[in-house]
Parts: sequence; structure tokens; C-alpha cells
Amino acid sequence: MRVFILTVTFILSMTNIFGQSTAPKLKISHLTGDFFIYTTYSAYEGEQIPANGMYLNTENGVVLFDTPWDTTQFQPLLDSIQSRHNKKVLVCIATHWHGDRTAGLEYYRQQGIKSYTTLLTDSLSRINDKKRAEYLIHQDTVFHAGPTPLKPIIPDRDIPKTIL
Ligand SMILES: [Zn+2]
Repeated sequence: MRVFILTVTFILSMTNIFGQSTAPKLKISHLTGDFFIYTTYSAYEGEQIPANGMYLNTENGVVLFDTPWDTTQFQPLLDSIQSRHNKKVLVCIATHWHGDRTAGLEYYRQQGIKSYTTLLTDSLSRINDKKRAEYLIHQDTVFHAGPTPLKPIIPDRDIPKTIL
């Protein structure tokens, strides 16, 4: 009987070990130079799907491209960047309107991070009831977070006339 109880306990403990998800919710990897990729996950059609974002580490602070898709990872991303680089995120640029790019815009705005996007992305965010950036990027917008100016390229030829 004692062996049986121990065996059951052992099997249950193994089930517990194997049943736990060990996949991290946030991954950061070096891309090239001062660019890093961050990955978060969210459920889409019943599966956990990864979404990659990017950030640029400059001497003055970090430029974040897009926001985590996983809404539990907005602050952990900021904390990870702070501990890894000892830098704050200054700016967040959303590259399109989906939740995998825009979910954290409001949260980051509340943290004092300036959020930007194009007119097209902002229009589609508004139409699709997604979070919106605080500022618009114009054709002549240049970001000066570090020694190298950052000039976004805006593909305006694809802007549907109906949303202008
Ligand atoms: Zn998307």
C-alpha cells in the first residue's frame, strides 16, 4: 500500500511538472547593432501565436516599435529593457493597427512614453476600435533619440481615399 501511495504521488508530481507551461511569455533577442527583437504570444484561432516587435537602444533611451500582443507583458517589457540596458523607453511607434502592434499604446501613454503612428494606421485603429497613438508621423517626421536620426518611410500610395 505504501508503495502504491508513493507511486501515485510520484505520478501526480510528474503530471504537475509536465503539465506546467514553461514557455516564457516574453523573449528578447539581439537582432543587429543596437536593434533587438521582442516576442510575445496571444491566442488566435485556438493556438498560441508569436508576434515579434523590435526596439532600438540609443544612448538617450529606447525607441520601441509596436507593443506586446500579450496584454500582461506591457510592463515586463519595460522592466526587461530597464534591467538589460539601464534605459527608459522614450517613444513607441506603431507600425499597423492590429492588436499585435497597438494593444499597449494606451498603457505606454500612461507611463509617459510618446506614441506615434501614421495617419493610415491611426484611421484604421479608429475604425476597428483599437488603441490609438498620441501623435501622428508626417512625411517629414524625424526622430532624434540617438546620434543617428530615424526617419520613418510612409507608404502613402496605399491610403484608401475613403479614410482621408
Ligand atoms: Zn498584425
